[in-house]
Amino acid sequence: MFKKLLVANRGTIAIRIIRACRELGIRTVAVYSTADKDALHVRMADESVCIGPPAAEESYLNIPSIISAALTYGADAVHPGYGFLSENGDFAEACRRSGLSFVGPRARHIRLMGDKPRARRIMMRNGVPVLPGSEGTGVTDLRDATVQARRIGYPVLIKAAAGGGGKGMRVAHDGRELGRLFPLAGAEAEAAFGSRVMYLEKYLENARHVEFQIIADNYRNVIHLGERDCSIQRRHQKVLEEAPCTMLSDRLRDKMGRAAVRAAEVVGYSNVGTIEFLLAPGGEFYFIEMNTRIQVEHGVTEMVTGIDLVKESLLLATGERLRFKQRQIKLTGAAIECRIYAEDAETHLPAPGVVSNHHAPGGLGVRVETALYDGYRVPVHYDPLIAKLIVHAPDRKQAISRAKAALREYLIDGIKTNIPLHLRILDDPAFQRGDLVTEFLSRLQPAAKAVQGGEAVLRAG
Ligand code: ADP
Repeated sequence: MFKKLLVANRGTIAIRIIRACRELGIRTVAVYSTADKDALHVRMADESVCIGPPAAEESYLNIPSIISAALTYGADAVHPGYGFLSENGDFAEACRRSGLSFVGPRARHIRLMGDKPRARRIMMRNGVPVLPGSEGTGVTDLRDATVQARRIGYPVLIKAAAGGGGKGMRVAHDGRELGRLFPLAGAEAEAAFGSRVMYLEKYLENARHVEFQIIADNYRNVIHLGERDCSIQRRHQKVLEEAPCTMLSDRLRDKMGRAAVRAAEVVGYSNVGTIEFLLAPGGEFYFIEMNTRIQVEHGVTEMVTGIDLVKESLLLATGERLRFKQRQIKLTGAAIECRIYAEDAETHLPAPGVVSNHHAPGGLGVRVETALYDGYRVPVHYDPLIAKLIVHAPDRKQAISRAKAALREYLIDGIKTNIPLHLRILDDPAFQRGDLVTEFLSRLQPAAKAVQGGEAVLRAG
């Protein structure tokens, strides 16, 4: 096992990793920017080192600083968490070149899956279903996009080849809209990923986002740990996730799970990963992408399977074999995660500030992952995710009641949060019936949509 691990991240995931390391007897090194000198992950780690100013490019994305911190402090491994450098093949490679174990897949798998048109092609070739889409390595000019969109049939979704976080995505319902949105999406992609290469996919209406957690060792053994329904999204970004998905029969779960395992097997993937699918109302499903890291929503899978994914990822990174067989994986009860953001519940504008009073809910089946404490100042520089509330109960109905009770108990004074939005979602009759689609939130808040101005991105059908 590793002796000392550098956590190349901040916030809730840094704390999650430090906790897993403590259980395994691994010492930890936290890195932080000057904006995070009072952050909880810095206090919790055994050692800590400042790696730069607040701007992420100069601190949490600064590969040379992080590598030299790891070497100076004598770490033998690095965990990237999610976001920041977690899907940066160069970082994984730089770690390994410096003799540090990277807790995650090999650099070539990160790069391969980070090139979305290429990942689509590989899946297609190996019998994993994908939606009709543009052919080739990507689309860069409008003329090509128009030809491809006509062949695919409108509506089409314009996506960034190097995409992530829903950035650079636009739905086009006809040629005129494509003409208007294609350059906009390209500019957004260029700003976010430094590349204007786009691709097109048939836009699937009334679909659910259903993803499978997979886990693989270095010896080509792969299993899945069931699914998560992440259909509750805003601007293509997840807000609330649950496991299991209300629409999956055991048969469909098995079919999708096998496709997810195949997707990982065909590339020889190792460590934890997620295969994302869109699930149509008729039960057809399509690969959209693979995330080659731990997900924000990994907690719901942990609750229904009883498996600690972060601990498993550490064990797998040391070269251990998978400790479970597919038939040993059982899903028990229902789990829901509410992502709590420091933002205005209606306008969604970020609301950083000082937390004057923090009380996290507790009780049976209630888990809170947060970096908040009394007097903590939420910095303006980073993702506004401040807490994850995860509940687990014997069935979905009880999980919903438990989530609502816990949200009402949650006290975060001094800043605005989206807790009221979560309560609205959980109170919604369609949500309670389990009728989820990715357009759910845009239909739930027509009033808020007007306030958001440029948000008419996801035009619900
Ligand atoms: P990102 O990597 O930017 O998160 P994804 O490919 O994972 O992009 O898609 C994010 C979300 O966008 C999905 O969960 C889904 O809601 C929506 N989406 C993606 N592709 C399609 C599609 N072809 N049709 C309809 N919705 C889609």
